[in-house]
Amino acid sequence: MATCTYSVPDKNASGDNLYGAVICNQAYIDYFWNAYGFQGNKNYWDDGFGWEDPCNTSKPLARAFNGCYLLTYSAQDYQNESWNSPILNWGRRYVRNNIDDLRSKCGDGSAIARASGDTVEVYLGFFYTKDVPGRAETLIHEARHAGGKSHNAKFPAGSVFGAGKDGADSSWGHEGAWMYGALYLWWFYAAGARTTSAMRERARQRGNLVIDNAFATHPGYSI
Ligand SMILES: [Zn+2]
Repeated sequence: MATCTYSVPDKNASGDNLYGAVICNQAYIDYFWNAYGFQGNKNYWDDGFGWEDPCNTSKPLARAFNGCYLLTYSAQDYQNESWNSPILNWGRRYVRNNIDDLRSKCGDGSAIARASGDTVEVYLGFFYTKDVPGRAETLIHEARHAGGKSHNAKFPAGSVFGAGKDGADSSWGHEGAWMYGALYLWWFYAAGARTTSAMRERARQRGNLVIDNAFATHPGYSI
């Protein structure tokens, strides 16, 4: 972490103050640690990443926990994880089942995350450019890769992710990582519980950005 330099954006806007007031509870911390792949990876979360300071939402670990809280508890009936229910319900189960190891690294400053097999690395961009709903989106996205689904297209003309570069999904029907993330954000916007209208609005905006920029063939939706 000594080589990681970052600044902490407005924690009201990102949701880190909102969720940070809730996650500072050993029961939540233990649950997240064991459920979402932190376990066995302490070496990736100490030395400045927050292991010694897990309630400090200026540090990576607490900011990851905020995303985990949103992922876990945003369905009104969050204990229903049925695959037949909305992704707002089963997203937590999907991430839990597919990410075995979740590791924090600096990255290049703008990188968000990367999946390799069932190991997912999250970088400074995950902690400090994404808001709390966006971090849950990233966990869903990377879990979809860990679950075996790769990107299969190039970003379309005008894409903020880099027109013509690999990393897009061909279509909504590909049911890839971008679709999973956008669908999760859509449901969170529509039905998210234990949050605020401001957080839900941010999810809507991010979902639309993904829909407009991450598919070779535009899905035709607008949240
Ligand atoms: Zn991806």
